[in-house]
Amino acid sequence: TSGTTDAPTPRARLTVLSGPSGVGKGTVVAEVRRLYPHVWVSVSCTTRKPRPGESDGVQYHFVSDAQFDELIATGQLLEYATFAGNRYGTPRKPVDQHLAAGRPTVLEIELQGARQIRDAMPEAQFVLLAPPSMAELRERLLGRRTEGPPDLEARLARAEIELAAADEFDEVIVNDDVEHAAGELVKLIESASAE
Ligand code: 5GP
Repeated sequence: TSGTTDAPTPRARLTVLSGPSGVGKGTVVAEVRRLYPHVWVSVSCTTRKPRPGESDGVQYHFVSDAQFDELIATGQLLEYATFAGNRYGTPRKPVDQHLAAGRPTVLEIELQGARQIRDAMPEAQFVLLAPPSMAELRERLLGRRTEGPPDLEARLARAEIELAAADEFDEVIVNDDVEHAAGELVKLIESASAE
């Protein structure tokens, strides 16, 4: 070779966004996409049933328990966890492909999955989205009305655990304002990709 060929595209950095159910991860991520269309956000597989307005392949790939078992058995998930009675996992291949293509990539996953990514990909950056308070979080989850009481309580119990793990994260963003939180997250994603 001549030695003057272009350098290969550097692998982009992965950003893992965690935070309790109801904190507004979905809304913040939607705003991040609008502000920074270059970002790629992973679409997870789940055994949860779609909520009204959700469609297969957009918010999630909705799969059966048997299909989820198969994804695990064939090594197709980068990480996976059970949350409030349902299973969730990140498809490995699209994440690899987007990072290799130099595209900043975001995973929106809960704590157990974030820990698996930290072990597998310590170069990733870990961001926790926190509510202004637990009372506020409860209000938001109640107001959302997507879950019945048992599931709601399970989600609130998990929220306490997730927030208690704040020191495991590189950065904590308090979601007191969607615009502000999304702006902070974009800065982190961009700085990570520029390194
Ligand atoms: P929801 O049922 O509210 O959509 O999601 C429940 C929780 O599962 C949220 O905290 C969400 O971040 C998390 N989650 C979504 N996809 C994944 C995934 O692929 N892996 C893991 N570990 N958690 C996920």
